[in-house]
Formats: sequence, structure tokens, C-alpha cells
Amino acid sequence: MKKRLFCMILSILLVLLCLPENVQAAPRVQKTKSPVIVVLDPGHGGENDGTTECGFLEREMTLTTAKIMAEELRKFEGITVYLTRETDVDLSLKDRAKFAAEKKADFLISLHYNASESHYLFGSEVWISLNPEYSPAGYQLGTCFLREFRDMGLSLRGIKTKRHSKGSDYYGILREAVNLKTNAIIVEHCHVDHAADNGFCDSQEDLEAFAKADARAVAKYFGLKSSSLGIDYSAEADNLPEVELGTVDHRAMQDASNPEYCHLSLDKAYYDEDRVEVTISGKDSDTNLIYYAISYDGGKTFGDGIPWPEGDILTGEFAGTFKAVIPIPDGTKPSLCVSCSNPYDLNCISNVLTFDQVFQIPEEPSAQPSFEDKTDNVVPELIEEPVDQTASETILQLLMVGVAVVAIIFIPFLIAYLVVKSKKNKEE
Ligand SMILES: [Zn+2]
Repeated sequence: MKKRLFCMILSILLVLLCLPENVQAAPRVQKTKSPVIVVLDPGHGGENDGTTECGFLEREMTLTTAKIMAEELRKFEGITVYLTRETDVDLSLKDRAKFAAEKKADFLISLHYNASESHYLFGSEVWISLNPEYSPAGYQLGTCFLREFRDMGLSLRGIKTKRHSKGSDYYGILREAVNLKTNAIIVEHCHVDHAADNGFCDSQEDLEAFAKADARAVAKYFGLKSSSLGIDYSAEADNLPEVELGTVDHRAMQDASNPEYCHLSLDKAYYDEDRVEVTISGKDSDTNLIYYAISYDGGKTFGDGIPWPEGDILTGEFAGTFKAVIPIPDGTKPSLCVSCSNPYDLNCISNVLTFDQVFQIPEEPSAQPSFEDKTDNVVPELIEEPVDQTASETILQLLMVGVAVVAIIFIPFLIAYLVVKSKKNKEE
């Protein structure tokens, strides 16, 4: 018994010691003067629309967001806010960076809304410089933004860097800012062309919610206070992820390699219910796995991405293996496989499962709800793990306990009654 307790304490200590560094909070590494100076850059403008997918107009969305964000930030003390543009005009990336440098900005924050060519991607992401001098501060501020977006219910695609073929930052605004010795990040709020995201940005109220989240991120990063709002974020600047000065954080390092593996195994096929229970596993040692997608034709085409379970891009955690229920189109004999993707949208496709039977819900005289042929948008529900018991089993057990309790209480009374009655009968 003592030995067991000792082992338990030892393993708890070991777990505590082995906790990854990135889960520890750290103070803000960027040194600033008061007031802090922030330049907001509404992306695009004028002739430069930005994305126009699905009827959205990025140049207007970014301007609206930036104006509300500035208004919110100005409610805090110790901050001066500028906008690179206040009207619908285009500016070169160089001019935007130059404006921030001239204002001696502590941060240039370029605001954007995203869309992907494949229309497959969804979630929020932040791009930071891969210059080791600017990367750590970018990582800490980027974390503040993504924490806010996660709280709003968005999926996260990470804080990332991208290298230009010439070696410097791929994104012009980051490159130009670093050339002028200015900290900068790009905030891509969400993907306007994906159903998982566009409900977050399709109204004035939505843009306002983003703007307020953006302002909170900046206020928390700099540890600002607002007496008018009764908010004190001064402790928040000590609640940032651990980063190392002078290095590009490994969590933000561009991942140029595909995930190492993706595997699919069949747990059970329900041929007359049009579904299968499967176990999916995947691995990417460089970054996270953020989506998986299903193919019924052996990997020729895939459905929408589904968030990879238990993924937390801010801590680098994600499930190595999980169970899922996949719906199968009625009347088919699929070649089932899945693909897993990392934050840089590199994939790995699993083995293919084939079936010797057609999935078919038996026809009944009464009108049965049938699965639609197009299952692309059906998000398979996850099996809760561990699956100890079903709800009906629990109810049954409760009922049985109830019956037992009633029996225990009433049986003695019943026996006593019968004894008394039989005595009475004898006496009579
Ligand atoms: Zn943009």
C-alpha cells in the first residue's frame, strides 16, 4: 500500500516536471514606454478589394473593424492609437510600415479577413516575422489574439511564419516593418468563404465583436487599465506564453513537411444503418494536426475539413488517436479513407478501407428518413471516450436500485402483517 502511494506521488512529480515549457506563463518580453503606441492597419483599400468571396468585401470589413477597435482601445489609459488609413484608399505596404515607423509604433497590427482558393480552410491565424529579433514579441501578441478568437468559438490555425524565396518574410507588411525596425503582425480573423467561419463576420455586430476582441487582445498584451470601463489587465501581461529572446519560436516555425502518418481502422460497420465506427490516428512532430477530412472514393475527393479532436494549437496538443462515427452514403460500397492536415495545409492520406457489402437502410413501408447522397457536409459525431455506459443503461440501473430500496423497506412490513393476520386467524 505504502509502495503504491509512493509510486503515485513519484509519477505526479514526474508529470509536473515534464510539463512542456509553453504551458508556463511568462511576462511580456517587449519593453515599452508609456504611453504605448499602436498603429492599426486596415488591410487593402481603394482599388485593392482584398477578398470578395461570397459577397464579402475585405477592404470595408477591415476599415470597420479597425475604427471600432481604435475606439475601444482609446477607452484604456496609457495607449495612443493611430490608423494607417481612415478612408477607403489604398496604400502600399511600404507606406503602411513607414507610417508606423514614423509614429514610433510599439506594434503595427495589420487587420485582415481570409479566404482560401480551395474554400476548404477555416479558422483564425496570425502571421509574425521570422526575424528572431521580432518573432518573440509577435508570438506573445499573436497568442493574445488567438485566445480571444478561441473564446469566441473559432478554430485556430496558429501563429505562423512564412519564408520568402529570398529568405526574408514572405508577407510584405512584416518584411517592410522589420526593415524599419518596427514590430508587426498580421491578424487573419477568419475565413469568409467557409460555413464554419462566415457566421462570425457577416453583420455589423459580428465585426464589432471582432473589433472588441482585438482591442482586448492588445489591452491584455500591454497590461492596460481603463477606469471608465472598470477594467484592469495589468496582471495579464504576465500571463503570456514562454518565449526565448532572439529565436523564432519552434511553435511558429514554418512546417514544410507533410504529417508523418494518418491511419484509419474499422471498429464496426453498420451496413443497415449507413455508418461505420472507426479509429483515426495521425502524427506530425513539427506542428499540430488541425483538420481531418473524409473520402469515399479512395482519396480522389474529400469532404469538408473537420477540426481534429482535442487540438490546442496554443499548447501544441492534439489527440494522437480518436474514435469517430462516419456516415456512409446509402446504397454505396465506399473506398473509405481520411486525410489529416497541419496548420500549413500539408496533408497525409490514410490507408483505404473497402467493404464487401453495400450499406443500405432496409426499406420499410412507413416513410423512413433517408440519408442524403451528398454527405460532404455531414460532420461525423465523435464517440465520447471512454464509453462506459449508455443513458438507457443508467436509467435501467437507477430503476433497479429504486425497486430494491422499496422491496427492502416494505418486505418486513408485509411479513409482519401476514404473521399478525395468520395469528388472528388461528385465534378466531
Ligand atoms: Zn487581406
